[in-house]
Amino acid sequence: MKKYKGLKISPGIAGGHLCIINSHQNIEHNKISHRDVKSELEQFRTALNETEKELSHLSAQVTKELGKDEAAIFQVQQMMVKDPYFLNQIEHKISIDLKSLGWSIEETLEDAYRTMQQLDDSYFRERINDFRDVTHRLLKHILASERQTFLETHKDIVIAAENLLPSHTVSLPRNKIVAFITEHGGLTGHAAILARSLGVPLVSGISELFKKAKIGDEVIVNGYYGEVILNPTAKQYKSLQRIKSIIRERVKERKKIARLVTKTKDGEKVLLLANIGSFQDAKDAMQMGAKGVGLYRTEMYFLNREEPASEDEQYRDYKRIADYFYPDPVVIRTMDLGGDKFQAGKPGQKEPNPYLGCRAIRISLRQPEIFKTQIRAILRAGVSGNVKIMFPMITCIEEVHEIKKIIDSAKKELKKSNKKYDQKMPVGIMVEVPSVAIDIASYLPNVDFISVGTNDLVQYTLAVDRGNESISNLYQPLNPSVLFLLNHISQQARLFKKEASICGEMAGTSRYTDLLLGMGYRNLSMSAPFLLHVKMRIRSINMKETTDIWEKMKTLTSASKIEDFIEKHFSDSLDAMMLDSGTSGEVEQNDNT
Ligand code: PEP
Ligand code: MG
Repeated sequence: MKKYKGLKISPGIAGGHLCIINSHQNIEHNKISHRDVKSELEQFRTALNETEKELSHLSAQVTKELGKDEAAIFQVQQMMVKDPYFLNQIEHKISIDLKSLGWSIEETLEDAYRTMQQLDDSYFRERINDFRDVTHRLLKHILASERQTFLETHKDIVIAAENLLPSHTVSLPRNKIVAFITEHGGLTGHAAILARSLGVPLVSGISELFKKAKIGDEVIVNGYYGEVILNPTAKQYKSLQRIKSIIRERVKERKKIARLVTKTKDGEKVLLLANIGSFQDAKDAMQMGAKGVGLYRTEMYFLNREEPASEDEQYRDYKRIADYFYPDPVVIRTMDLGGDKFQAGKPGQKEPNPYLGCRAIRISLRQPEIFKTQIRAILRAGVSGNVKIMFPMITCIEEVHEIKKIIDSAKKELKKSNKKYDQKMPVGIMVEVPSVAIDIASYLPNVDFISVGTNDLVQYTLAVDRGNESISNLYQPLNPSVLFLLNHISQQARLFKKEASICGEMAGTSRYTDLLLGMGYRNLSMSAPFLLHVKMRIRSINMKETTDIWEKMKTLTSASKIEDFIEKHFSDSLDAMMLDSGTSGEVEQNDNT
């Protein structure tokens, strides 16, 4: 048993088996039985094929981009993979010495390095790096196939990763994941949002564990305390079961609340919407009483694929969700790629400052055909009148004008091809950067609605990378400058009579509910597990009180003072913990499909 302390990113508590993804998984040096020889050899052949395919793809790509000479290195590596001596050695170690596949490869190649190092011939010595490179490629494919088998054959999986990127998570079996552990990643990074939307715990900032742990190890992740226990004792497992049953009871009670109206004690209504990324999220949200969708993230149609999803594929999915919520509204956000989300067909396009680089709307405007295809799909999905379209990370008014031209052109194309669509679909933008927040009065006349993305607004206002756990103490949603902007946006929207909502993580944090209502926000959009907590909070307060709270907060001069004030005001700390805890995977399947 070993305990590790990290950062609490998503609350909840769960136990399961560890599956390590990306660079950390260790090669196991274990003996295999005669029975396993056949499958190890098969796995070896698959990995060889995959490695060859990868090398030939790289060779073709580099030839095209840089020329034949530069690509020669990959042809040498391809020859190494086919070398009969090398293949025989590995197969011998597996079938006669009964060593595991990874171990056999590692050992064979170590022998080869040593021999090469001793040679006088400098040509061979220089090939050592190529050998190392080939080894890494082979081992990478072997580990990937081991992981795949593990994911397919186990349930209650705890995903551990150095850094969890959207491209890693799209192919994970979400219904089997009970927790996440990461080495890097802050409160509003991709992993955090995913964990919260699944209602599972995430602890970040843990690196030591990766040195000891291996795939299949048992682990307990406690997102309330930011603690991970590797190979827990029986007693620790028993206490986990007890805590889980207490939480289950509380969640059952809360589910009754899903059917109640969302209004304050003095009768003012608030609209609670959901942040979703799939039909399963939509079902969970409906079950928790969401009155529509305030943010439908669509990145999955553009990540981890050879090509972006077609117009028809997008249309079918968007329409299914629009129909499911009809007549309630569904806000579909166009692709928000870049940052830590890399696009289909363009893996590894890295920039020195990805969050300040070609991200979100900037990418979309640079590839108008892909962008327009998505817009056409959304316009068609809105034929019944309950879909709104929204654009991420706008930074200047020219972008809004350009978008509108593309929407007009998409509409003309649809009309020409006799396809039905919503001619009057409301157009909105996300307010995620200070330039738009400060000058919101220039944007409001040009759009039908706005939604504040506080995850990015905090990041860009405070110049703090939202995914970097080492500066997470500086990521302050309650910083007076952020609150100033939030209040300003709300006041201006009211003045212009335009709907303003919040769809960043702040909206789902019930400790901030009073504050956001006090500023005038009446539409809040969040992941399904938070809907009930926020609703309970709303039902327990008077709207008049929230205005007073905000008036008081306005006078406080630092995030920590505001935090203290909230702490006193929101005094039941156990309840606060549970309230903001999500439901630990307790969102049941909804048969209302
Ligand atoms: C936000 O920035 O607050 C937001 C909702 O968008 P995302 O988290 O997808 O960047
Ligand atoms: Mg954002």
